[in-house]
Amino acid sequence: MTPSVEFRGVSVHFGRTTALDSLDLAVGRGETLALLGPSGSGKSTALKALAGFVRPSAGRVFLNGEDVTDLPPHRRGLGVVVQSYALFPHMRVADNVAFGLKARRWPRADVAARVAEVLDLVGMGGYARRFPRELSGGQQQRVALARALAIRPDVLLLDEPLSALDAALREDMIAELLRLRAELPDTTLVYVTHDQGEALALADRIAVMRDSRLVETGPCEQLYRRPGSEFTASFLGAANLIPVDLVRAGSPATVRLGERELTAEPTAALGSGPVALGVRPHRVGVGEPAAGTLPALVKAVQWRGTGYRLDLVLATGTTIRAEVPEAFAVGTAVGVSIPDGCPLVGAGS
Ligand code: ADP
Repeated sequence: MTPSVEFRGVSVHFGRTTALDSLDLAVGRGETLALLGPSGSGKSTALKALAGFVRPSAGRVFLNGEDVTDLPPHRRGLGVVVQSYALFPHMRVADNVAFGLKARRWPRADVAARVAEVLDLVGMGGYARRFPRELSGGQQQRVALARALAIRPDVLLLDEPLSALDAALREDMIAELLRLRAELPDTTLVYVTHDQGEALALADRIAVMRDSRLVETGPCEQLYRRPGSEFTASFLGAANLIPVDLVRAGSPATVRLGERELTAEPTAALGSGPVALGVRPHRVGVGEPAAGTLPALVKAVQWRGTGYRLDLVLATGTTIRAEVPEAFAVGTAVGVSIPDGCPLVGAGS
């Protein structure tokens, strides 16, 4: 099937800065793809190249199989929502939402009906007569969403749409976006975020970006459980990366950590370089020092409401993080256990 969105070798330069380096990426119809990466990794630039706000210095952008690289933004038929809402302050909510429809010369009666429909869709039906300044941040972002959806775009682009909202509102909006996604199954969503929680909650698939390049893409659960690179492992959920010695390659592989041997699942071809185990903090077991455990010292303890976060220094010198239900005093000698079957990644990848 023709992808809804496709980047073919797209590069963007700003003067000497390479903001995007040969991006190849396709998004299927109705799919929600999160572009995830740290600040400055090229996510927004990719979105802008798709929307037509910046011109690629190389490569082509396709929408539904059509090369749109040379089309201006308003001819691409996309919905766009950015972090800062960008509502027109002097226009009422209804007029903000109607803006794109009027620009497309929709008949007046159709405009009114469509505005009412999308305001209902985002739960803002009662606010049509308000001005943006009379709304909370979360409400303004809903209106921005309604405005983007009004033209019935095939593809909706969202650039850090929740980052201006506080934590509680963000949770609400994630639920709202999930509901919206279920109601618009044919709309393709491309969602830019630096927040792995948002990406995991919302996306079908994640594209991990770093230094203007695509690192890897995969379904959320696959990237989370079997990250193909050390960067993804550490970025997606702050896994511990524990250097280990490879005893036997294979799937599973056998690795040695201190005196212990463990099995581990290689996530990609490992090459001959150093390897590391990706271990999430909640999978690190902490107890009394005992045979078969790794000796460690508790370096720091933080109460996290649902339990305790410990920073532990292993006898091998590596510092790791654990999340455990019970408290340990700083300086206590403990025994750490790491489960078999954790992902094994090439270190430095
Ligand atoms: P992200 O969205 O991942 O935070 P961006 O796509 O905004 O990253 O930026 C990627 C790189 O391009 C960064 O190094 C950034 O400083 C640079 N960049 C982005 N926009 C411009 C611009 N208009 N002029 C010059 N450099 C830019």
